[in-house]
Amino acid sequence: MSEAKEAFRLDGKHALVTGGASGIGEATCRELVRAGASVTIADINLAKAQQLASALPHAQAVQMDVTRRASIEAVAAQLARLDILVNNAGIAHVGNIAHVEENDFDRLMEVNVKSVYLVTRAMLPLLLERRGSIVNIGSVAGLVGVKQRFAYCTTKGAVVAMTRQLAVDYPKELRVNCICPGTVYTPFVEGYLEKYHAHEKETMIAELNARQPIGRMGKPEEVASMVRYLCSDEAEFMTGSLLTIDGGWTAA
Ligand code: NAD
Repeated sequence: MSEAKEAFRLDGKHALVTGGASGIGEATCRELVRAGASVTIADINLAKAQQLASALPHAQAVQMDVTRRASIEAVAAQLARLDILVNNAGIAHVGNIAHVEENDFDRLMEVNVKSVYLVTRAMLPLLLERRGSIVNIGSVAGLVGVKQRFAYCTTKGAVVAMTRQLAVDYPKELRVNCICPGTVYTPFVEGYLEKYHAHEKETMIAELNARQPIGRMGKPEEVASMVRYLCSDEAEFMTGSLLTIDGGWTAA
């Protein structure tokens, strides 16, 4: 009788997750460790990253500001190897084009777009040594227009484009894929509710649930499972792919 090997194992691999201290990043760190990987939790919020690292085996916390090259290169210099890079750190902004101030637009481009360039470039030599897997966290906002999200849609469209472009330049040397979630209930959403809808949270939560035809928001763990799959040997044939996980949002 043959013994079934557990699927989607990542034993012996080392991963770095940007924005790994909260939400989708945190769930991803937990899932990758569960799959057998060791993880570097890279976040601007070191205290939170350390708190998570202390709760996980085979995890270390580092402070990284994904908009600052020196901060990223300091982390790269500490790593002996890297098999998996999850470009997850990101921020939101609400407003149509008339309401997006230039400094807000620039900040979003820096945190959501330039970061992917800076972090991927700094980690490239390590990733090329291991035929590494890069997972970019995009959004449905990179695929379809979302009302009142001019700057955010712009940045996530760029993440989609960077994913495909990298896959074309490194078809055999790397695997590069992009996950495009619908609304996922994380501190990112809580922050949005607090900032823009503090007095009508319940109504807004109902609206956010209804954006997904399935009738609810996603869970960070559901996105994390997809990251795990993309980094596993089972996904060896996948590169340059965009994977939606959105409760049917973009099917309409
Ligand atoms: P979150 O706010 O819960 O976590 C983001 C993490 O990124 C935080 O730990 C924060 O400290 C860190 N971070 C922010 N700026 C940073 C910087 N300059 N350098 C390093 N770290 C920084 O957010 P989340 O909901 O888990 O979102 C993670 C990613 O998923 C983002 O790219 C977001 O755009 C994307 N996404 C989220 C949703 C959603 O509905 N939550 C949907 C689609 C895509």
